[in-house]
Amino acid sequence: MYIDGQWLTEGPNFEVVNPATGAKLGSVLDASTDQVQAAITAAEGALPGWSGATAYDRATILYRAHTLMMERQRSLAELMTAEQGKPLKAAMNEVKYAADFLLWFAEEAKRIYGETIPSARPDQRFLVHKQAVGVVAAITPWNYPISMLTRKLGPALAAGCTAVLKPAESTPLCAIAVFEILDDAGLPPGVANLVTVSDPRPVGDLFCTHPAIRKLTFTGSTAVGRHLAQLAAPQLKRVSMELGGHAPFIVFDDADPVHAAKGVSLVKFLNTGQACISPNRIFVQRAILEPFLKTLEARVARLRAGDGTDPATSIGPLINEAAVAKVDLQVQDAIAKGATLHTGGYRLVDGGLERGCFYAATLLSAVSPDMLIYREETFGPVAAVIPFDEEDDVVAMANDTEYGLAAYIYTQNLSRALRTFEQLNFGIIGINDINPTSAAAPFGGMKASGLGREGAREGIDEYLETKLGGLSI
Ligand code: NAP
Repeated sequence: MYIDGQWLTEGPNFEVVNPATGAKLGSVLDASTDQVQAAITAAEGALPGWSGATAYDRATILYRAHTLMMERQRSLAELMTAEQGKPLKAAMNEVKYAADFLLWFAEEAKRIYGETIPSARPDQRFLVHKQAVGVVAAITPWNYPISMLTRKLGPALAAGCTAVLKPAESTPLCAIAVFEILDDAGLPPGVANLVTVSDPRPVGDLFCTHPAIRKLTFTGSTAVGRHLAQLAAPQLKRVSMELGGHAPFIVFDDADPVHAAKGVSLVKFLNTGQACISPNRIFVQRAILEPFLKTLEARVARLRAGDGTDPATSIGPLINEAAVAKVDLQVQDAIAKGATLHTGGYRLVDGGLERGCFYAATLLSAVSPDMLIYREETFGPVAAVIPFDEEDDVVAMANDTEYGLAAYIYTQNLSRALRTFEQLNFGIIGINDINPTSAAAPFGGMKASGLGREGAREGIDEYLETKLGGLSI
């Protein structure tokens, strides 16, 4: 753990394992409540100095952290592959994406502008000033174990906030590597603190109730996000919630079915389907269903599961046994209720995969609303295809979910693309595009997918208060 600029190494700990092999990777400290309290106190103590530093000074440290992260890209990616399971190439991409947030917010730090507003009174002037929210508590998930940290710490530190971060229990080693970078970049003691724990509940409770914490930023499941938002409500703490998704992927009959199937095969199986923006319901207009399924089946059947360090691997393991069980339950439920299984549909236990959490890349069609997979986030390598006939029907079907994070539209008809874009209730929409994300673009969801946005100009606003000065001259 890293508290007040000091690395702590002694004390009770818990194990971290490689999900591809079950091998132990290391142990990390299991923080006591007193240690979490000490981290919050350190962040509180560092706040006046850090929020009072110039934006240029804060940016300098973020620039250095960006440089260090890119210098260490390969070793960070190797660590991520071992700890989280994604193939090395995907891990390299994630480290780059993570570093982008440090660079973007180093630049945004210098653009925290206020404004003056004309008054109706001749003797009055209005002055609008932005200031750091204060001490931030951050909780992050395991599926993107480096970029989810910098997407929060980048803007928080740029804005002048100080922070205490709790990473996921499965991926604390990646978090430690990020904090080594911040330390090496010269971040003053107490400005960012890391606590690792095996049981997140006491930390979550403390983050939500401690009076020094003015803002909670959370990325994870909707169930936990709801719980934390409720806990934080009595003190009216600011919250940002980046929660679950159930992305529709709509393929209209004027799209090229082969191109669209290629897009699905790439985005659906990214990170073994363990992404909040992963397509969960693939709606295909009936006229092109056959060529679409033919191409998708061939592509899915070719995906090779394995250890992410093997260059031939296209999909890594799931994070743990519970994830395998959940995916299999959804697949078996769908088959029992009449879905067609094209390929996959089982746990992989041969060829050295028996020690890891591997599930075969799976394609289901004839999926219907009575199936679990139609409603629940899958978080696994399963593509679920649903036929549709009319544009109005598919928009209603796509919006028929409590989630509102990402959606995808494939069409060559510009009017239809814009119409559908406007009618879908999702925060991020890819139009003939499977990667609508960037540090420069606002990321976040509507409805049960969350509150607030990360990245982009909006990302730093989440860590700023607006202060009005009224001057009589
Ligand atoms: P999760 O179970 O909600 O856990 C997320 C984080 O919250 C982890 O650090 C976890 O700690 C912690 N946590 C769990 N229960 C807690 C409690 N009672 N109090 C305080 N902290 C608690 O989610 P996950 O399985 O790690 O991540 C997958 C979910 O994240 C999916 O739903 C996915 O869609 C969502 N996600 C959303 C985005 C987005 O940007 N919208 C991005 C990535 C992921 P432990 O690890 O120790 O349990």
